[in-house]
Amino acid sequence: MNNIHQILQKDSFSRNDLVVLLSDTDPQHDELIREKAYQVKEAVVGRKVLLRGLIELSNICRKNCLYCGIRSDNRKVHRYLLQEKEVLAAARFAHEQHFGSLVIQSGERNDKVFTDYVSRLLEKIKEQTNGALAVTLSCGEQTADDYQQWLHSGAHRYLLRIEASDAGLYKRIHPDDENHSYNKRLNALSATQQAGYQTGTGVMIGLPGQTIENLADDLLFFKNFDIDMIGMGPYIPHEDTPLASQSNLLSDEERVRLSLRMISVLRLLMPEINIASTTALETLVPDGKKIGIMAGANVVMVNLTPQSVREDYMLYNNKSGIYNDEWQDFKSFLKLTDLCGEQVLWDKAGSSLHFLKKKAACSGALAE
Ligand code: SAH
Ligand code: SF4
Repeated sequence: MNNIHQILQKDSFSRNDLVVLLSDTDPQHDELIREKAYQVKEAVVGRKVLLRGLIELSNICRKNCLYCGIRSDNRKVHRYLLQEKEVLAAARFAHEQHFGSLVIQSGERNDKVFTDYVSRLLEKIKEQTNGALAVTLSCGEQTADDYQQWLHSGAHRYLLRIEASDAGLYKRIHPDDENHSYNKRLNALSATQQAGYQTGTGVMIGLPGQTIENLADDLLFFKNFDIDMIGMGPYIPHEDTPLASQSNLLSDEERVRLSLRMISVLRLLMPEINIASTTALETLVPDGKKIGIMAGANVVMVNLTPQSVREDYMLYNNKSGIYNDEWQDFKSFLKLTDLCGEQVLWDKAGSSLHFLKKKAACSGALAE
């Protein structure tokens, strides 16, 4: 009844189907599920990689998530905020190398000095590149007004991972206070969608105490939220965080296997969305980004953060690429796409097909 082959023939999956697909550990099925996801990806979004340049703007953060290396209580971290000229140099690199899209990520700050600074950066980037770069922001929970302000200044997409869609699990990986409320995070995610952003979210995979049912519910959460893009990858402990002391952690191999399975099953569940192959995956396994692409992902980020501060944006132990500069990362990306035999979409904004179709349904046109 719950045969993997039968489930893979279906057009839609029940929660139980998702649980079966995620919990199956037969090595032969690894290949089968990955191949099916890749076929769907090829048929729907093409054998194409969307490239984004990543700028880690600042590691200053007001929050204290129990898993994150740059949480505010970690006094070992040297805090930084990139200067305007450093951000503009990274944007210029992206534009000159025909990237088409940028992601600006940072710790969470809600003060006006910071929100205005981000607005100014967005305006300058637009001005300097004639609006050629689509920009994703990933700067945490903000007010609806601030999301609006950033949208008007030139941002197009917003990435706010729900981290764990189960409220109980969310609570176990965050301090129990007003600053780390599940409902606030959920409302912030809704606010980005309502503001008109292409909306992204995601979860960490292999968190201590996380069940296969939790992961199946994460996938249904993405579907029910009508999400446009996903960034999800393995949880990796950081030695200076409270969560690292938990002993009930799956092995690196198991977290990699589960992460790849999540990518493949999500591609089958939501064929038209953008799915990133993450740095966390690359951290746990050589060629991780390539394997993620072969499992059904279609987005890769190349890190453009100045080499001098990369070590300070250490979300988890052994983060991949911290000793590289932008050229080394860019060359690795070119090698990766070559190995996968995938076409890179140069100079393209690389919007989510799912989002474009929703917009076209409202406006009657399919703009890029
Ligand atoms: N401050 C913003 C964006 C920066 S953090 C925010 O929290 O939304 C970006 C992502 O890094 C987080 O969403 C989280 O999913 C991921 N992350 C943090 N610590 C991690 C860890 N130990 N292992 C894996 N991913 C982690
Ligand atoms: Fe700050 Fe984001 Fe890390 Fe939480 S995950 S501590 S909000 S940078």
